[in-house]
Amino acid sequence: MMLSQVVEMALRHVLQRKISEPSLSMQDEGFEFRFVTFQDLKSSLVRIFGSPARAIVYDAGIEPGRRSFDRMVNETKSKEEVLKLLVSRKAGQNWGMISVESLDWQTNSGRISIQDCFEARGRKETQLSVEPSCDFFKGYLAGFLSALFRSDVKVIEERCMAMGDALCVFAFRPTP
Ligand SMILES: [Zn+2]
Repeated sequence: MMLSQVVEMALRHVLQRKISEPSLSMQDEGFEFRFVTFQDLKSSLVRIFGSPARAIVYDAGIEPGRRSFDRMVNETKSKEEVLKLLVSRKAGQNWGMISVESLDWQTNSGRISIQDCFEARGRKETQLSVEPSCDFFKGYLAGFLSALFRSDVKVIEERCMAMGDALCVFAFRPTP
């Protein structure tokens, strides 16, 4: 196969993907960011402000999570459907593959995992983190789930791809 054909096939694949999956840029509501650029942004914050900067990254995720819920709840008929939409939309936006591992509607607690989380993917392969590092996504989940339950939840990242784990796992429960 000629090189030009390979390039053409690859391009067609990318274009088809763009069309079949909802993309922020197609809705004129956002722009694309490389995983490594997001990582650079976080690293700069920590370099300048120290580890408290991680709380800023966490906090910055909360409002986007609430907003996402508000948008998605208007497109769905039930809380279960909102969660399904969260999974499919974030997969389409390349955030990673979210799975709701467990969810107790009585106690507002459970576990959510994400494979290939955008926030862990930009790390340097040779430098494993000593602690879970997906602070923005943790804040996003806290915002999203607090809106879903109409009550504040606390989110803890138990396992993280940045530490070498196969996926990132977040436990959530009501804020004490
Ligand atoms: Zn993580």
